[in-house]
Amino acid sequence: MIQFQYERASTAQAAVNALTNNSNAKIIAGGTNLVDLMKRNVMAPNKLIDINALPLREIRQQDGKISIGAMALNSQVADDKLIMEKHPLLSQALNAGASAQIRNMASVGGNIMQRTRCHYFYDTALPCNKREPGSGCGALEGMNRMHAVFGTSEQCIAVHPSDMCIALVALDATVLVAGPKGERRIPFEEFHRLPGNQPEKDNTLQNNEMILSVEIPDNAFSKNSHYMKIRDRASYAFALVSVAAALNIDGKVIKEARLAMGGVAHKPWRLKEAEKALVGKPATEETFRQAAEIAMQGAKAYKHNAFKLKLGPNVIVEALKNAAGLV
Ligand code: SF4
Repeated sequence: MIQFQYERASTAQAAVNALTNNSNAKIIAGGTNLVDLMKRNVMAPNKLIDINALPLREIRQQDGKISIGAMALNSQVADDKLIMEKHPLLSQALNAGASAQIRNMASVGGNIMQRTRCHYFYDTALPCNKREPGSGCGALEGMNRMHAVFGTSEQCIAVHPSDMCIALVALDATVLVAGPKGERRIPFEEFHRLPGNQPEKDNTLQNNEMILSVEIPDNAFSKNSHYMKIRDRASYAFALVSVAAALNIDGKVIKEARLAMGGVAHKPWRLKEAEKALVGKPATEETFRQAAEIAMQGAKAYKHNAFKLKLGPNVIVEALKNAAGLV
C-alpha cells in the first residue's frame, strides 16, 4: 500500500480547503471502496481527509423535501422511519446493496462516489482507460458479461455499481455539494456521467468539492414503488440488471411514473421515454410490456452480455407489476 498523509476535518470548509490545497487528496468516510482501491494500487491519493467527525448524519424533513446527510450510513437510511414511510423505494434499494456489514460502514456520500467494479479496473496488470487513460479497454473484447448496454463508448463500457443511486435518480433527488465558491445543487441525473472520451471521470463533482447531503422532493409514489435486483447470488453481489419503479395510480390509471435501471450503463439510467409511455394508461401487464420495449430502444450488447437485452425488459415488467400491486 502507498504512503499517505491523514487529516481529520473538523468542518466542511476545512475539508474543502484541504481538497483545494492538494489536488491529489481524497475524502474518506466509511472507506468501504476507497481502501480496497488503495490496497490494490488502483488509486493512490497522497492525503486522506477524514470527514467522520462532521455533523452530516441527520435525516430530516424540510420544505417539501427530505434531506439526508452525506455521512448517514446506508443501514441507518434504509431503516429510518421517515424514509420507509415516504420513500420505501430507497429503503429497498439500500437493502439490496452489498452486505449488512458494509451497509453499517458505508456512507450515503461514499455510495454515490463509489467506483465501477469492472475487473480490469481493479487489476493493474491489465489495460483500463478509466484507471490509466490511453491504456485501452480490456473489457471491450474481453470478459464483459457485467458490462453496459446503454451509453457506452469505444473508451469504456463499465457500469455504475450502486443500487441506492438507481432509486435516487428515479426519485428526482438533488445532490448538495460544497466547494471553494460556496454550495451548489446538482440534479442527480446530472451527477454521474457517461464515459465518452474521458472514462476516468465518473461524475461532475469538481476535485475540490465534497457532498454535503442528498435531497429528495416529496412525491406521491410511496404506495406504489418497487426495487427489483437480479444478481448472480442472493446477497453481496452487484446487479446484472436492476430496476427502480415508482407509480402514482389514480383508480386504475397511471398519473405519474418514474423508472430507472442499474447494471446497464456508466450512470444510473433513467428511462424517461418509457415513463411518458406509462402516463395516462391503465396499470396492466400489457402497458408495462409496451413501456419496457420503449425502454430498451438503443441498447447494444457485447460478446458476453447479450442476455441483458432479454433480461432488461422482463425486470422492468416485473418491477412495475410489483409496484402496481399486480403480483
Ligand atoms: Fe476500464 Fe471501463 Fe474498460 Fe472496464 S470498461 S476496462 S473500467 S475502460
